Amino acid sequence: MNCIVCHHGQTRPGTTTVTFHRDNQTVVVNEVPAEVCENCGEAYVAEEVTTQLLDIAAQARKAQAQVLVRVFAPAAA
Ligand SMILES: [Zn+2]
Repeated sequence: MNCIVCHHGQTRPGTTTVTFHRDNQTVVVNEVPAEVCENCGEAYVAEEVTTQLLDIAAQARKAQAQVLVRVFAPAAA
């Protein structure tokens, strides 16, 4: 698809890093599947992936650490 940020690039399948901040905790999720703009690098994450990210963030918050880093693992089909 055409990138809606720069209007020039085309998006291609790739991965991105998503960061959540809440209270005093930061959750970083690496290797998140996304459509990434080849021009400006903007990443578009699908709705079902976002749902899984929120689950990961919710589980990570239970760990009581200030910074947590996870690698995205797709849910079993
Ligand atoms: Zn772009």
